[in-house]
Amino acid sequence: MDVEFIKDQLISHPDFPKKGIVFLDIFPLLRNPVAFETLITHFLHHITSHTILKSPTKKVDVVVGLDARGFLFGPIIALRLGAAFVPVRKQGKLPGPCVSASYEKEYGTDIFEMQEDAIQPGQCVIVIDDLIATGGSARAAGELVAKEGGKTLEYLFIIELTFLKARTQLDAPAYSIVQSD
Ligand code: IMP
Repeated sequence: MDVEFIKDQLISHPDFPKKGIVFLDIFPLLRNPVAFETLITHFLHHITSHTILKSPTKKVDVVVGLDARGFLFGPIIALRLGAAFVPVRKQGKLPGPCVSASYEKEYGTDIFEMQEDAIQPGQCVIVIDDLIATGGSARAAGELVAKEGGKTLEYLFIIELTFLKARTQLDAPAYSIVQSD
């Protein structure tokens, strides 16, 4: 029931940002406080039901959110879990020493960065974003976690474009609330 409710809030915009692309917009979901709360509760229930953690004594240490929509709900989930929130940003936006990883975009390559001391070796991490398409950005985020010695337990998304089969390229399982084909 909550999945249908969340799905109903999403709006598709044909030909955005350019012709031929159908853009799925999560902002209407955030405008409805009951739907936003349902989204957070859904993620928390999934994370704490031990499907990720496997054991009741294990915990998520760090929630990594991707630039930019992962910043809108990742910190709320981190607070409720009592975990750290760590942003992954496009190159040049974070101060201090950073680790970096590149990923393929439609036209050329982009670079993601994470602050060097953001994750301690051995910490358990979940990576979160609004949508997974080709999986390039999630994979680069996973590389950054690995470079700092963290262990990615799972990748979480509101929406997954399943026909692109991106989850097969990730180094940990993926979870999505809404699947679009
Ligand atoms: P990927 O790297 O190809 O998996 O693309 C995922 C990234 O592109 C995420 O950060 C999304 O926010 C963004 N993105 C791609 N398509 C959409 C869309 O239809 N709606 C919202 N974000 C999108």
